[in-house]
Amino acid sequence: MRTRNNIGMAAALLMACGAAPAAAAESQAAPLPKAQRDSSWFADGQQQLAQAAAQPINNAPGAAKNIILFVGDGMGISTVTAARILAGQQQGMDGEEYRLSFEKMPFSGLVKTYNTNQQTADSAGTMSAIMTGVKTRAGMFGVTGDVPRGDCAASRGRELVTALELAEGLGKRTGVVSTARITHATPAATFAKVPERGWEYSAPEGCRDIAAQLVELTAGDGIDVILGGGRRAFLPKDVTDVEGAAGRREDGRNLVREWQQRYRDQGAAYVEDRNALVDIDPAKTDKLLGLFEPSHMRYEADRKNDQAGEPSLSEMTASALEILKRNDDGYFLMVEGGRIDHGHHAGNAYNALNDAVEFAEAVQVAMDRTSAEDTLIIVTADHSHVFTMAGYPTRGNPILGKVVGNDSRGEPESEPARAADGLPYTTLGYANGRGFAALGKETDADVRYGLPQKTGRKDLTEVDTTATGFHQEALVPSDAETHGGEDVGVWARGPGAHLLSGTHEQSYLFHVMAHSGGLLAD
Ligand SMILES: [Zn+2]
Repeated sequence: MRTRNNIGMAAALLMACGAAPAAAAESQAAPLPKAQRDSSWFADGQQQLAQAAAQPINNAPGAAKNIILFVGDGMGISTVTAARILAGQQQGMDGEEYRLSFEKMPFSGLVKTYNTNQQTADSAGTMSAIMTGVKTRAGMFGVTGDVPRGDCAASRGRELVTALELAEGLGKRTGVVSTARITHATPAATFAKVPERGWEYSAPEGCRDIAAQLVELTAGDGIDVILGGGRRAFLPKDVTDVEGAAGRREDGRNLVREWQQRYRDQGAAYVEDRNALVDIDPAKTDKLLGLFEPSHMRYEADRKNDQAGEPSLSEMTASALEILKRNDDGYFLMVEGGRIDHGHHAGNAYNALNDAVEFAEAVQVAMDRTSAEDTLIIVTADHSHVFTMAGYPTRGNPILGKVVGNDSRGEPESEPARAADGLPYTTLGYANGRGFAALGKETDADVRYGLPQKTGRKDLTEVDTTATGFHQEALVPSDAETHGGEDVGVWARGPGAHLLSGTHEQSYLFHVMAHSGGLLAD
């Protein structure tokens, strides 16, 4: 029907332009050539169309009994594309055709990430927007944007309520999972209110630090599942943790003990390593605190080197869901892939992408263990990075490799392409940062901070750029590579997922969660 109307319109247009109408154009769509119909692209497109057309839409307020919010910290669009290719190539494919877990979700859109006072955003203001429905300044969360950063007095009375707190207030279970410190901006913005993101374990007189706010949270009965890094913010400085690191607190409080005390009659478990997490009986555990590192947890590629043994992001997600789902009133869970961002800041695409692939695994875990009937899953990033895919690499070229182009017939060349300076170059690169380093098998990207900056072009002829320890070239020298200011993606499945289609302010995500989860009073 639509085809006929379009042809009719085209004919009318042709007539209006004075051209003769095509006699055969009135009713029958022309049959497509066999080569076109037989193409796998054609069949794939037809299949996707049928799926999209059959996709149910659920606008009902409160239809999402459960909400899972996944945040890939710094997972901009170019990161998603490159991670998709890496994941596909790790499975023996060309890579470009691969789809990450969340790319199979039926709805997606774009998100404008700027803070009220900053064109290119930071993780504090962005997550605050997602969690409260109100944008604020960079560097702070849970307080309004009219508060000057770091001004304790001005922040009092300007606190905002988060979606997690609303869920707690409704009797839902809640969870926060991150590979970063649990007091770091993204996880902390789910529960804390501070005009300075740096107040992780101490704050000026009259304000409370983030770790203290976590164990003292008064919404509902506090957060039920907390898994991540950042032990040091919970321990006094004269206490040494299981991995030999000293606490950071100067007030003498041991917040791990306070947490255990608070929930001592409620099936509470505190764990510090992967084995202890695996040993938990979720049927008997109603409150779970897992702090697996003094600071951030390790990059996924570096996890095997941990002294005490750390769980992966997907393992933590699975554990959290086991506990949260044992509640008739549903749950709210936030899961952050916190170190995608850190890999990029260190100028090391390998770790950024490998952590993005693990993040997609964690999303898969949630997709497998929940139903689209009653669970809204949202996957997004807080902001992007200055990370690019450059040149004209041939199909299936290793994503971490040097660009190998096509010849004049469109067939792969046998040698890497050379830039105008005569040197080979990588597909992936950064507009700024510390720049080139070839650290071989090193799996901790942060080692780069101890080495001098080396920006601009380097001769990569003899360098294995696919090694875990390779740091891409960067143009503008800076202490660390910076965030990027362009929009990020949002992908969604479940009740209300379609409401995320289109281009929206980041603060809009809260409103979709609140509507679909029935979090707000009318
Ligand atoms: Zn960052």
